[in-house]
Amino acid sequence: MVNRPDMLPILSAKGVRLQLVDGRELIDGMSSWWSVIHGYNHPALNAAVHRQMDRVAHVMFGGLTHPAAVELAELLLKVVPSNLETIFFADSGSVAVEVAIKMAWQYWHARGETDKRRLLTIRGGYHGDTTGAMSVCDPERGMHHLFSAVLPQQLFAEVPSCRFGQPCDDEQIASFTAVLRRQQAEIAAVILEPIVQGAGGMRFYSADYLRRVRQLCDEHNVLLILDEIATGFGRTGKYFACEHAAVHPDIMCLGKALTGGYLTMAATLSTREIADTISQNGEGLFMHGPTFMANPIACAVAAASLELLASGDWTSQVRRIEEVLTAELESCRGVAGVADVRVLGAIGVVELDLPLDVPRAQSLFVDAGVWLRPFGNLLYTMPPYVISDDDLRQVTTVIQHVVRDQSELWAS
Ligand SMILES: *Cc1c(COP(=O)(O)O)cnc(C)c1O
Repeated sequence: MVNRPDMLPILSAKGVRLQLVDGRELIDGMSSWWSVIHGYNHPALNAAVHRQMDRVAHVMFGGLTHPAAVELAELLLKVVPSNLETIFFADSGSVAVEVAIKMAWQYWHARGETDKRRLLTIRGGYHGDTTGAMSVCDPERGMHHLFSAVLPQQLFAEVPSCRFGQPCDDEQIASFTAVLRRQQAEIAAVILEPIVQGAGGMRFYSADYLRRVRQLCDEHNVLLILDEIATGFGRTGKYFACEHAAVHPDIMCLGKALTGGYLTMAATLSTREIADTISQNGEGLFMHGPTFMANPIACAVAAASLELLASGDWTSQVRRIEEVLTAELESCRGVAGVADVRVLGAIGVVELDLPLDVPRAQSLFVDAGVWLRPFGNLLYTMPPYVISDDDLRQVTTVIQHVVRDQSELWAS
């Protein structure tokens, strides 16, 4: 790999601190793309990896199983929406989304409804980097618009205009309702990120909107896939974001924080009815089997992460982070060039009117001892839940500083 000056080499990490090769330290405000919720180098997670390593690092998951997968499945089933009873362990978030889409297709195929092949989603979404997942990302402003011409053509409704905490009236869901009514006969599933649209724009939308989506899917014979890869495991203040709306999906995707950010691992869960329909018809099994499916070390560390969450401390940690972010980021609202400030759970976002000068922002962050990675118009933080108030204030102080710096840059 070329040693680029804008790439920082990390030697080690502990808690919320990244140690650079040259001895400098950075407070991590990103949780390594939102996954390292318990912090780096956690003794309980390290121990789980070591323990499993000494038993078996990997074994194929076809015709064989292992206790780490069974234990993880049991722990997951205790926390997910109660209608979800079966689990498919995949190896990354994008694959979990592919699996969810294939489950929906195979389900309708098994029921003889072979026209139901398309997906409906909302604009502004992000569901991963593989072909099926890319096809449901925002088709114009997302990072995959370059590939639009070669992707399966899916159906898109407008971004919900009703914000989190607000009700959603007929008008605000009209675009979604219209597509669903018109094309239900060819729609296999609706796929959405519940409440928080992450990498597609860090927007928080109304729980009422999500409730109405659930109702509309039921009325129109369409499955609902919720992609909780970014929102799962406490990030929004609820264990899963769908709990804000008291909604149960038919299929759910998990990833990112599942292993506490230690290893790549994801899961796709479904109802018993979907799993049984697939396995009692046609091929008799779900047609997907990745080589590293249910890797034992990943399962063991995921189980250890769920046990840390089960102790319950995350609820007060996330609430405290929400309070500090709300108090500290609010001051950015008045600054020229700031379009919006929003906080939900352990997510703080400052949206600007214009795209940031990212290299300039990056060097200010690093000089202040903080690691953040803004994109487009968005400055945001999603810190590990274990961050202290002082460290979090160091993160928000540098966000305030960068907002003012960019604002002055545009004014000059
Ligand atoms: C990150 C993400 C994915 C993709 O997960 P990878 O592990 O990067 O493949 C899918 N959906 C959402 C909502 C995500 O945030």
